Amino acid sequence: MELAKAYSHKEVEGKWYGHWVASGAFAPAGGTAPYFSVVIPPPNVTGSLHMGHALNNTLQDILCRYKRMDGYRVLWVPGTDHAGIATQNVVERRLAEQGLTRAEVGRAKFIERVWAWKEEAGNAILHQLKALGVSCDWQRERFTMDEGLSHAVREAFVRLWEDGLLYRAERLINWCPRCKTALADIEVVHEESDGQLWHIRYPLADDPSKALIVATTRPETMLGDTAVAVHPEDVRYHPFAGKKIRLPIAGRVIPLLADSYVDKEFGTGALKITPGHDFNDFEIGERFGLDKISIFDADAKIDAEAFLSRGERGEWLERYRGQDRFAARKLIVSELKEKGYLEKTEPYRNAVGHCYRCQTVVEPYLTPQWFVNIKPLAEPAMQVVRDGRIRIIPEGWSNSFFAWMENIKDWCISRQIWWGHQIPAWYCKSCDAADLVEAGGGEYRLGKEAHPIVARGAPESCPKCGGKELVQDPDVLDTWFSSGLWPFSTLGWPEQTEDLKAFYPTSTLVTGFDILFFWVARMIMMGLKFMGDVPFRDVYIHALVRDEQGQKMSKSKGNVIDPLDIMNQYGTDAFRFTLAAMAAMGRDIRLAEERIAGYQNFVNKLWNAARFVLMNQNNVALVAGRRDVRKPSVERGGGDILNDKDLNFADRWIRSRLATTIAQAREAVDGYRFNDYANLLYQFTWHEFCDWYIEMSKLALNGTVAGDANRSKRILVELLEHILLLLHPLMPFVTEEIWHVLGENHQSIMIHPYPRPEPAWVDEQTERQMEFLMGVVRAVRNLRAEMNCPPGKEVKAIFHGPEEDLMLLRSQEPYLRLLARVSAAEYAISGERPKGAATAVVGATEIYLPLGDLINLDEERARLRKEIRKFEEEFSRVQRKLENNDFISKAKEEVVRKEREKAGQYEEKLRTLNLSLARIEKAQSERS
Ligand SMILES: [Zn+2]
Ligand SMILES: [Zn+2]
Repeated sequence: MELAKAYSHKEVEGKWYGHWVASGAFAPAGGTAPYFSVVIPPPNVTGSLHMGHALNNTLQDILCRYKRMDGYRVLWVPGTDHAGIATQNVVERRLAEQGLTRAEVGRAKFIERVWAWKEEAGNAILHQLKALGVSCDWQRERFTMDEGLSHAVREAFVRLWEDGLLYRAERLINWCPRCKTALADIEVVHEESDGQLWHIRYPLADDPSKALIVATTRPETMLGDTAVAVHPEDVRYHPFAGKKIRLPIAGRVIPLLADSYVDKEFGTGALKITPGHDFNDFEIGERFGLDKISIFDADAKIDAEAFLSRGERGEWLERYRGQDRFAARKLIVSELKEKGYLEKTEPYRNAVGHCYRCQTVVEPYLTPQWFVNIKPLAEPAMQVVRDGRIRIIPEGWSNSFFAWMENIKDWCISRQIWWGHQIPAWYCKSCDAADLVEAGGGEYRLGKEAHPIVARGAPESCPKCGGKELVQDPDVLDTWFSSGLWPFSTLGWPEQTEDLKAFYPTSTLVTGFDILFFWVARMIMMGLKFMGDVPFRDVYIHALVRDEQGQKMSKSKGNVIDPLDIMNQYGTDAFRFTLAAMAAMGRDIRLAEERIAGYQNFVNKLWNAARFVLMNQNNVALVAGRRDVRKPSVERGGGDILNDKDLNFADRWIRSRLATTIAQAREAVDGYRFNDYANLLYQFTWHEFCDWYIEMSKLALNGTVAGDANRSKRILVELLEHILLLLHPLMPFVTEEIWHVLGENHQSIMIHPYPRPEPAWVDEQTERQMEFLMGVVRAVRNLRAEMNCPPGKEVKAIFHGPEEDLMLLRSQEPYLRLLARVSAAEYAISGERPKGAATAVVGATEIYLPLGDLINLDEERARLRKEIRKFEEEFSRVQRKLENNDFISKAKEEVVRKEREKAGQYEEKLRTLNLSLARIEKAQSERS
């Protein structure tokens, strides 16, 4: 086997995933080693892979592959979330294309269609994840609505009920009139928008000539007003104490209340109170025992029946009956204006809540719902974070966590949709006859007084009357209820399975900050409640992937980068490496394609280095003979030949650097510093191994420096093996490919031990000496470049400096010749400065390159003068442009910025050219 001349990610990446799965390498090993377990944040079954998933799963895979190689029994559980409203919306849209609604199809048939859709089109995202190389155990794949997880959901619900942590009550909740369901507070997205503030006259009931002015952003809700409130200390309203008000249009007589919640500074200091459609008003209503009128139906249209059932009549009712809330607003405003109730209108900016799924304006709406009594669950969840039993990383996110948990409200878990876990509660048709209203299609609407019979399975009969006719609660549970159980339900809970015993609590959760509350907090509460232990030890919160300019990627902006396109173009390894290299803790990623292309070069660099190493194994009997039988060197304790005592200078140096790199790489992954992990391996591989060590090894291979050639070949193999192992968690495909070519009988690289640092390899003196040698080589190379000396031409060098430095240079002279084309060297501890030479200083050593040897001084002087003239002209042209106000004011910012950059570059170029010229002129004057 040999490596192809050029690396083809398409060929290589296509072939390994199937091997890994088939070999069972993704399943946890047996034995008694410590475990490392992770549950995937389940993507929505409707989803397709976006940058957020790519980052999230790359980081999880790095951890899992690293831990697996490091000897842990690793389990990574994959799966998807049924994503209630999101999935229901997808299937409803497909129905709409056939001209059908879900009501026409009926509940049972609709759910059948959702399952059919899931089988056909759902789970696409899991296939896309496989392209990313994720090492999940697919044998253990779960779905939040599979049989086992549905069982866990019912069990959890029943236990919460039995422990008094669930209740059903009529409360004001966030309602989406399009999705026709309740939403949790955190499913409401608040957006600032330009609205208006209407000032409306509310006349006194006993003297219509006198009136209070109330200010509101939602005049249509005045139909549901049941009071007006002022601040008790607001002296403007003291004369009105005890008065009643006649509500315009509806004519209802309502009280004037004093409540210190009212803000004296807002509007006129008089607040209309609508307990049926405003959360603050609801609380005031509770304090004063006010009526709560729900003026809208589920579609947010005026519900005339609500008024009729209160005994309210009037022709206004017919005018407003069935009007949509926004139409009603226009109608009310014009009626108020016409009848002289509208005092004034002013522009007003306020935050309006929108449904996070469909962006419809959310309506506070009074309905019976199921709630979790959350405080008793929240307190222990805060405690485990305070105690450090769960670490949130980066730590700053703990503050957000505490702030949210301290203000947590009871969790509304019922949703009025069909796709999800139907609530395991039943109602007796005879006992609850008054609260069961037939809603068609075998469905019932439940009144607020209905008495639930909560059970793990459908009860046979009513425990009160023995009646056999029972109706199940039509609502389903919030999607986050089932995903809150994910870390243990996926392991088999409530059964005490082997997996649950072996892998709970899980080790690390990797997630984005946007679901810290939706999901992470719920898992902590549920884990503590049902398992009596935390669901994970570490929560690593990663950043967002933005576009190059730092903007959020969005379809509307057209700046979305599709991970699959990127993987196709640059290769998965390059893409994964980019994500890791940019995943600095707490900092968003600005993804530029140039960076990915840059890391694609890195993959190629590794490939070419491997080719060099392999080519140097050929025709060597020793290596050829060993290749089939040998085990990778790292399995025999760090290395084989690398442990030799008498290595040469370059070998000792790279071995020392390797030991440090291994230690740092481990520390970086252990500390979730993925960017450090990637960057330090990049540095080591590209610069230290490829740029320096491989070059230097050529001298050992051809016998110029000490050490025998065969040993050098073996050292190259061992170094390459270490590099592949170190890089494997970041770049699984290319490392596996090279690994197999290195040893035909090798087993997959992913099950080999991760390199351990060998303290004995660290050799600080050699590292210092090598630093110095590299400094000298760089200095000579720079001088040669500045002098325009042809690359192949050899030069003479004179070194003045401390004896120790000179001895080193003398002993490593072959490297100087190879790396800096120094043909002959003179050494002196001190002495007269050689004339006519270019000079540089490294540490305490001065370097002189006699110029006359390198170049024709006259020709070079002429060339430099010509170059200088050219750049001076360019520079002044740009300068003129930048001093021209006309240009500055009219040109685009981007263009001006480019011109400024150019000016800077020309200035810098001129500086170095002038320096070179001065050096030549000085050399000439010294020679003459
Ligand atoms: Zn909605
Ligand atoms: Zn009954």
